[in-house]
Amino acid sequence: MDPRIKAILIAEGSVDIEPELLSTKKALVPGPSTAGPGAGVGSFFFRSGGHLVRLEHRRDPDATLIVRRIGEEAAGGDVSGDDDVVIFYKGRELVRGRIEPALIHCPEQAYITLSESCIFDCTFCPVPKLGGRTKTADEVRRMVDDAYRTGNLRAISITSGIEHSPGEEVTRAVDLVKDLTKYNLPIGVSVYPTEDSSIRLKEAGAIEIKYNVETMDREIFGRVCADMDLDFVLASLEDAVSIFGRNRVFANFIIGLGESDRTVREGVETLAGIGVIPILRALNLHPLRPDLKSICPDAARPDADRLLRLARFEREVLDAHGLRADVSETMCLPCTGCDLVPHRDV
Ligand code: SF4
Repeated sequence: MDPRIKAILIAEGSVDIEPELLSTKKALVPGPSTAGPGAGVGSFFFRSGGHLVRLEHRRDPDATLIVRRIGEEAAGGDVSGDDDVVIFYKGRELVRGRIEPALIHCPEQAYITLSESCIFDCTFCPVPKLGGRTKTADEVRRMVDDAYRTGNLRAISITSGIEHSPGEEVTRAVDLVKDLTKYNLPIGVSVYPTEDSSIRLKEAGAIEIKYNVETMDREIFGRVCADMDLDFVLASLEDAVSIFGRNRVFANFIIGLGESDRTVREGVETLAGIGVIPILRALNLHPLRPDLKSICPDAARPDADRLLRLARFEREVLDAHGLRADVSETMCLPCTGCDLVPHRDV
């Protein structure tokens, strides 16, 4: 897999795959995501040539991307019995690789969502509609412990929707981080910021933080993230850099809400200028959010060319600002499953 092939896979996003191929790997495939725009959708990880991608799976014989076990396509259905698969794109072989084991949500991490509900109502996000529950601290501790005992755990990442208030989620995360430092692993946290969330999480033992801007197009932000305050998020990010340091503060930035490339470029420059690494994330049009299209008629998943162009642009900007996306140890940048990550993929 090269960056262009990964861009195609991200742009398409979902594949047809035989349930049997995943069920034989049941322990290796994470359940539906419980956080953010991908929540509620089953997925698996595909690794090839040093690159990793997360793909949603469904049964759809007319899908543009089809995954088959290697040997099956040549042997008329006889399977080879290992993890190696081939992905066909519009009927032609695109890439070969293997299904990658995940621990909790992604490979080598315990990436845990605390509250699976949200009082905010960003219109691209299914979490407010899913209305999930909030895990107890004991439950989270047990999950991390189970992952730790596999011997494959490299990082702990914590995220959360907002069950009652941002402050309550920060306190929940702070208490857990204090507890989880006993594993002596890097811990990262992604929450909605509060005035003192960065200093409290840093003092608790977190080494990295992510506050999402979602979009840097202010007009679109006002429509899709009406409960959030972009200026407050940006000020919190700047404050976080002074506390966690450069290369340790990140922000999800959705591509596909109808923003122009120029807005993305200016947004990347703004974030890098304050020492923040943007994570350019392809919009996921979720069936639970048909309302997004009425609020953002131009919303569409970006194509491979756009994803590749913007990722390469981001790399140039990070280089110009002396930032490195391959320093991070927690959350999405080391995972790389959903994005073309500068310094790792491009
Ligand atoms: S890139 Fe982030 S959201 Fe995507 S699978 Fe990895 S950890 Fe999860």
